[in-house]
Amino acid sequence: MTGVATHCPYCALQCATSLHPAAEPGAVVVRPREFPTNRGGLCRKGWTAAEVLTAPDRLTAPLVRNAAGELVEASWDDALDFVAGRIRQLQTEHGNDAVAVFGGGGLTNEKAYALGKFARVALRTKNVDYNGRFCMSSAAAATNRAFGIDRGLPFPLTDVAGGAAVLLVGSNLAETMPPAVAHLAGAREGGGLLVVDPRRTATAQLTEDGAGIHLQATPGTDLALVLALTHVVLQEGLADTEYLAARTDDPDGLYRSTAAWWPERAERVTGVPAAVIRQAARVLAAAAPIHGGAGAFILTGRGAEQHSKGTDTVTACINLALALGLPGRVGSGYGCITGQGNGQGGREHGQKADQLPGYRSIADPAARQHLGAVWGVDPEDLPGPGQSAVELINALGTPDGPRALFVHGSNLVVSAPRLASVRDHLAALDLLVVADVVPSETALLADVVFPVTQWAEEDGTMTSLEGRVLRRKAAVTPPGDVRSDLAIFAGLAARLGCAASFPTDPAEVFEELRRASEGGIADYSGITYARLDAGEALYWPVPAEDHAGTPRLFADSFGTPDGRARVIAVDHRPVADDLTGGSPLYLVTGRLLQHYQSGAQTRRVVELAEAEPEVFVELHPRVAASLGVVDGAPVRLRTARGSMVAAARVTSDVRPDTVFVPFHYGGASAVNELTNDALDPISRMPEFKACAVEVSAEIAA
Ligand code: SF4
Repeated sequence: MTGVATHCPYCALQCATSLHPAAEPGAVVVRPREFPTNRGGLCRKGWTAAEVLTAPDRLTAPLVRNAAGELVEASWDDALDFVAGRIRQLQTEHGNDAVAVFGGGGLTNEKAYALGKFARVALRTKNVDYNGRFCMSSAAAATNRAFGIDRGLPFPLTDVAGGAAVLLVGSNLAETMPPAVAHLAGAREGGGLLVVDPRRTATAQLTEDGAGIHLQATPGTDLALVLALTHVVLQEGLADTEYLAARTDDPDGLYRSTAAWWPERAERVTGVPAAVIRQAARVLAAAAPIHGGAGAFILTGRGAEQHSKGTDTVTACINLALALGLPGRVGSGYGCITGQGNGQGGREHGQKADQLPGYRSIADPAARQHLGAVWGVDPEDLPGPGQSAVELINALGTPDGPRALFVHGSNLVVSAPRLASVRDHLAALDLLVVADVVPSETALLADVVFPVTQWAEEDGTMTSLEGRVLRRKAAVTPPGDVRSDLAIFAGLAARLGCAASFPTDPAEVFEELRRASEGGIADYSGITYARLDAGEALYWPVPAEDHAGTPRLFADSFGTPDGRARVIAVDHRPVADDLTGGSPLYLVTGRLLQHYQSGAQTRRVVELAEAEPEVFVELHPRVAASLGVVDGAPVRLRTARGSMVAAARVTSDVRPDTVFVPFHYGGASAVNELTNDALDPISRMPEFKACAVEVSAEIAA
């Protein structure tokens, strides 16, 4: 039985699956499928994904809040009429920008594209952004400024398997995308797996028994550590000087910007012994082609990126890769491990505040001309750049800010930082519309909730962390009166009198997306459903139907005007909310094997919920002892933004200066009550990964 070939609904590894009918109506059984990235494997999130299709509280009809404040069922026509009427009224009173749209990195390419077009053409608002701003935006900003192109991995993931060394900075692959661990085998065999993480994560544990080195740095110091690694490479004569001269714009700048980061200085900042820093740099360098090695990779994840200096940290990683001559060489390179299922495609088709489809700048007159022609609108009428996610949220409900918000595929009141502020801004709106598959914490605050299709109920495409475009296929009929987000955009556009077409057939949307992306950085114009269905491995750009795609970028030149990579000088700086006497520990947030993002889906899967049912805080035994706290005891965490209680999990896997809390839980268990919304000045990424926290034993009242 072959089943319907599709891909997992969750992370950007997009493991290949086949779906088979189950006994229960609307249900399917998930089986793994052989594919280069997952090699026939799935993690337990993928195995159990089908349960979300038939979740007991699955949304099956539109809901509209009544005068008594209750969400009650309504027909699609009534709900759409109501929303369109309110939008017309608010835009008449306050202007087009009174309406905002917030998208998600889990939406298909077709939905992400239609969402951006809906915002800019039907609503004619500049206020659109998405939750990818909380995901890999720092890596996107860093690669754009260094390479001129941002594709998470500019090479197939399978290349990594051949590398003799892999430096993972802030990525816990073994829990977030376990099948990808197979690609670390080459590095582990030769002792070349280098993991930078303040916790002894499942991934850090892979370095043990001679497989590599765990560099357990102080939270917020990855940048200093990478500067020191680069210092060692340059000072010990391990750099690929010919490559630097030929393929970068400023080799001397690299020396200047790292000269002051000798390992002993970095040790004082990072807590990683100088000898370990030297050893790690030498292991990485030995694997580089310049030294006859089999290849070396530097990969970053959210641990490096979700900081107010995330862009500079990734830039430092890119600089290290350039020093060793890795980018553009087959079997080596720098890449970002994108997190969300369509985190890559989600940032290419116009959901971002500053971008148009094809990964084009919205400020570029040629791009505006092109999209104006595709959409049948005057380019002069297209809005300009809007605000990034946190800035947009902070503007909601303010006197000059948006009065209405559409949220598609995002659970803001769990996943955004400084949640008390987020709730205040949502409450100040005149209209909150949420499209989701289950009553997420954000949906429960909405004035109108639209029930939408999810992965196994819809056709479309997703773009994996490698920039490979994949087919998503419907295997079951959605329950009740569930419709696609595409139907919401079409229904509202028509009601708002928009003349542009908003197809509801994903295939039709994709044909338009192909034209919209033509000539852009992320050029999908040569990709067709038929080619994907035939099993072609199409990595963008694919500029023609007879083009085979581009698995590897940067072989001969980078995407900069002169083809050379930019060396950007960066330096370490402290976390925005650093330790004080009253808040003497770092709070680090992160992910668990059992849950995905805000947990809205995985908390509804019985097996996953039972395995990790509630929030906890990891404490070092010394910290626990000083507080008089034993394993399982309640602990209160306080930061400048809020406070919460979680059960202690006492473990020496965290540093004594660090506590860790997973962010998959909502309500009083949401750790983002505490996190800092200080932003990276370039990517506008909030500082999820490090802030000062006060920890105390919680005494029962
Ligand atoms: Fe694969 Fe990610 Fe799905 Fe797990 S969650 S099965 S790693 S795509």
